[in-house]
Amino acid sequence: IRKDCINAIHMMVSDSLEVTVNMTSNVSSSRDAGPVLPGVRNIIAVASGKGGVGKSTIAVNLAVSLAQTGARVGLIDADIYGPSIPLMFGIKGERPGVVERDGKHYIQPLEKHGVKLLSIGFLVNDDQAVVWRGPMVSSALKQFVTECDWGDLDYMIFDLPPGTGDVHLSLMQTVPVTASLIVTTPQELSILDVKKAIGMFRLPQINVPILGVVENMAWFTPAELPENKYYLFGEKGGEKLAKELDMPLLGQIPIVAKVGEHADQGSPVALSENELAGQHFRDLAHMVARYVAIRNAEQEKTSTIEMNA
Ligand code: ADP
Repeated sequence: IRKDCINAIHMMVSDSLEVTVNMTSNVSSSRDAGPVLPGVRNIIAVASGKGGVGKSTIAVNLAVSLAQTGARVGLIDADIYGPSIPLMFGIKGERPGVVERDGKHYIQPLEKHGVKLLSIGFLVNDDQAVVWRGPMVSSALKQFVTECDWGDLDYMIFDLPPGTGDVHLSLMQTVPVTASLIVTTPQELSILDVKKAIGMFRLPQINVPILGVVENMAWFTPAELPENKYYLFGEKGGEKLAKELDMPLLGQIPIVAKVGEHADQGSPVALSENELAGQHFRDLAHMVARYVAIRNAEQEKTSTIEMNA
């Protein structure tokens, strides 16, 4: 993190100051020129048009489901407007450590449910996060990527902020994003905004492949009427979007109270073998693994973008 950013963080992040300063003051800049995330095979950016559509819920349950298949998985929570991963993994209040190797210092991600984790939420209090400016978030994100001991991973998942902005651009400048995954609800309001996010990934100078669409909150089925589906946010909006923009529909996740309850308890629902909602996420993970393999077989490696953002 640049000196000016450290100073800014200094002023705003009082209680996590120690960790932040440790992490920033000990890192050597000589690694800056090296390849980023050399041990990571696939980088997946989870994006949405709007907030509140379940993007973090999808990112978290996808990460643990992939880990359950035996894959090595990392998850970076870059959603500055609501860094919810510490809560969803039950590690709120914990802080990442620092490890020394060959005289160099690296941030050590936390590990829970088989997933290596870092979150902007580890650096700030709930009420402080939103006052961070774009460049500060981007710098912290870069440090999470370049100064961190991630080791070898099959999937690195980024939970991006909603919409399009500084964080998206700086991620794509820093790492070659293998593919993005788009989360939407079926509602027209969400679909409209998600089209803008898709437009960003498809810009010629960005050109990040889109793996497909996940339709969250697709319907609601009351326990006493298990055959019924109620389309509270409209019917098949995600499915129609996928067709219209010629991309796969990777999954449809219904509204299930257990999804939220498990998130609040720090134990993602995908970990529960006997929850039907968990099965939706495990199915999604299989689709993601399959489409990542297809993407890698059919398309060139992504390059990092070059632009002044
Ligand atoms: P985002 O990351 O898009 O802002 P979140 O993942 O934080 O959205 O989800 C917003 C809220 O909706 C949370 O309270 C979450 O528990 C809840 N939620 C998300 N998906 C579902 C679902 N399929 N069923 C029930 N609740 C859900």
